[in-house]
Parts: sequence; structure tokens; C-alpha cells
Amino acid sequence: MEGIITKNDAYGMLNAKISEFLDYIREINRDKSKQVTYSRNIFLPLTHICQNSCGYCNFKESPEDTKNLLMNEDDVRMLLKRANEYNCSEALFTFGENADEVDVVKNKLEEYSFSSMVEYVHHLSGICLNEYEILPHTNMGIISRKNLHYLSDVNASMGLMLETTNKNLLETVAHKDSPSKNPAKRIKFIEDAGKEQIPFTTGMLVGIGEDSRDWVDTLFAIKKLHEKYGHIQEIIIQNFKPKENTPMAGYPETPVTDLLKLTVIASLIFDDVSIQIPPNLNSNLVTLFALVGADDFGGISPVTGDYINPELPWPSIINLEKQLATIGYTLTERLPVYDKYVSGDYLSDEVLDVASKIKRRNNI
Ligand code: SF4
Repeated sequence: MEGIITKNDAYGMLNAKISEFLDYIREINRDKSKQVTYSRNIFLPLTHICQNSCGYCNFKESPEDTKNLLMNEDDVRMLLKRANEYNCSEALFTFGENADEVDVVKNKLEEYSFSSMVEYVHHLSGICLNEYEILPHTNMGIISRKNLHYLSDVNASMGLMLETTNKNLLETVAHKDSPSKNPAKRIKFIEDAGKEQIPFTTGMLVGIGEDSRDWVDTLFAIKKLHEKYGHIQEIIIQNFKPKENTPMAGYPETPVTDLLKLTVIASLIFDDVSIQIPPNLNSNLVTLFALVGADDFGGISPVTGDYINPELPWPSIINLEKQLATIGYTLTERLPVYDKYVSGDYLSDEVLDVASKIKRRNNI
């Protein structure tokens, strides 16, 4: 868990030329397995209603305009059935934060006989496990530690993007209308997940107004949590993509060289946490990212699109395999919970049983 570089080393590396990174890249590749992992998943965006309004988001919809206020059990079952046909192992529940504080969503939940989104997700997760043998991974924003504990019984892993530790973004177009994007609240939530021993996915959103030193601060904030609780299984480095009809539509993207440097730095800070690059946001560059330390492509769905970046479809698994083969790497399927957490210390008996079945079925 030590990592190779200190915080000051990492700050120094931010200003180095990319050519000076070659020694580090050699170091990263020295003992590397030359494997990049992915999870075969299905995306269940239960609702697009959200209490935040992030300046870069085109996922959120208003109650008046949304096409489906709250997916019902039939909607979910239909997708789970398709997930079974494609041998998916992960049901990713991602949706707007605190949606049940909005009256129309609360009323809809009552119509379905649930009092909160947490209760509804718990119920649907039970269906995933018991009827479809698919492992739930929930990322629903900040909830209480009590609710984290409740959901951990039926989830293989959970997640929340820290995004950045720069609290000044709460005053900017990115997060001024998004109170739950307060970094202190998000760090507290990730800490609560650690106390509950929940295998956890977090990450950074790069290019929303922070500066490069914030990248290092964010990575070391995650490292501090991981050193204490050991529960961080992967860190997503998600590059901001401007979206039409959002307040940040005209904002520039982070240059690729900076993203590559950041991936190297992250790989050197963490020696036991995967570094994930979303392949649909970097579809022509996946081999480069693999060479500089990215060892995971996250959830890839043969069934549903990326609802957060709908304009950027997933590359096919075959296409990714072919791209990686050009540099002598392989693509390997994994569960939504990393192997080192597949034990009774982290998972309920129910989740553990389904994880074992999928491992046998998918030969993982
Ligand atoms: S990015 Fe997430 S938290 Fe922000 S408005 Fe969109 S759905 Fe809500």
C-alpha cells in the first residue's frame, strides 16, 4: 500500500516534460501483468431526477420533461433478462442524488410501495441476486452510514466519485448548485463505506475547473482513506467532455498529455488499487493509457448505453481486445467486486454465493 512516490514527487512530476516520464513508464511496466480488466454490466438509471445541478451534466432531467420518472420493476426485470442473455455479471444502479426528496418521485415510490430510494434499490438488488444471479453495484450519491450498512447486504461493491478536493468549485458553474458535491461530505461518505468494509469505487472528474495540483491532492485524499480502511478497489480517471446544452458546453477538454501524466502519477501512488480509464471517452487512445498504467476499463455493457455520456457508445469488447493485442496486452473479465474482496470479511453470504456462481459460469 506504500506506492512509489510522495506527494511532493507527484507535484514535481506535474511540470515535467512527457519525455521525462519514460523511466516511470518503464517502472510501471516492469512487473505488470499486461492485462486490462473490465466488468460486463448493465446500467440501470432508475431516475434522472436529481437535487444537484452540475454545470457539465446532461443526465439530469426535470420532473416535467423526463420520459420515465422512476423505472418500475417490470422495466428493471426486462433489462435484467437481457443482461442474463449476454452473461452480464453486474447491475449498475446509478441515478440522480436525493431524488426521493422531490415530491413527484416520493409519490411514485409510494405508488410502488416503497418509502425511499434506498428501500427500492434494496428490493431491486434482492431481485438481481435471487432471480437473475447478477451482482448489484450501487452509486446513488451520498446516503447515511445506516443506509450504507443496509445496502451492503445486497451489494457486491458500491461507489461515489470524489471528483475533486477543490472546494472552490462549489462557487463556480461546475458545482454552485450541487451541495452534495462538497468534497468534505464526499470524503466522509467514502470513509463511512470504509468503516462498513464495503469494496469501493471512487474517482476524479478531470477538467471541471480544478488545477493540476488539485489532481495530486485528490489522489492523496483517496490514498489516506485507503490506508486507513483498505476498501478502495479502483480509481476512475474520468476526463470531462463538454455536453451540448449545458452551462459548460464551451469549456475545453484536458489535453491528452496531461491525462497520460496523471495516469502515470496515479499508478505510482497506488500499488494495490486499479486505475480505470473509461474506454468510450478515450476510444482511440486505450492502448496508450494501458501502457502508462491504466489497468481497468470499468463496466462495459453489451446491453445498455452510457447514460452519463450517451453520445459516446461503448467500444465493443472484441474491438478492445484487438486494440490491446497490438501492444501484447489482454482484456480480462472481472466481477464488479475485485477478487481480493470476495470473502466473508466484505460480502454477505448471499452476495458471496452469487459471486461464486458467476465466477464458475463466466470462467473468471
Ligand atoms: S452529474 Fe450527477 S449529481 Fe450532478 S446533476 Fe448530474 S446526475 Fe446530478
